Amino acid sequence: MALKQILTEPDKILREKSLKVNQVDEDLQKLMDDMLETMYAAPGIGLAAIQVGVPKRVIILDIGLRDKSESTNDEKQVTRKNPMYFVNPEIITKSTNNSTYEEGCLSVPGQFAEIERPDKCHIKYLDYYGQPKELVAEGMLATCIQHEMDHLEGILFIDYLSKLKKSMIVKKLTKQKEQLDRIVI
Ligand code: ZN
Repeated sequence: MALKQILTEPDKILREKSLKVNQVDEDLQKLMDDMLETMYAAPGIGLAAIQVGVPKRVIILDIGLRDKSESTNDEKQVTRKNPMYFVNPEIITKSTNNSTYEEGCLSVPGQFAEIERPDKCHIKYLDYYGQPKELVAEGMLATCIQHEMDHLEGILFIDYLSKLKKSMIVKKLTKQKEQLDRIVI
């Protein structure tokens, strides 16, 4: 497995629409393994392939992530608990009731905002082995799935904010990137 670089806003690639996967083969499984390792290292609870620059309809999640009993002092230490792999995910139905979570994103570092989304969604997808599966997700899992599926359409959570709020965040991130560039030796 190998760590991949996570792209951050503003980056045009993050705005690309991801393409349907034709076959779940060894190469795709390797991509999913690398994505998982990258996500755990970040650490994060979800990642879409486009966030590591691969425009394929693949997302991974692990929302049962931190195990504090095994990692005493190191906050960044994460234990593989419940990795979930979704290839070609499609929403079959969504709830008309919404719930609100404070969302962040590995591609929008250090920024958080309350986002309202349907509190339940029924999806179909292919699993790690290419088997067709269905899942009814609720609560935080439903939010995470919808957040990651947005990435496949080139949508980031900041797109749901007011123009002003969004432009402030993008400005901040652009500045951060410029400063990062400056200290690269
Ligand atoms: Zn994200």
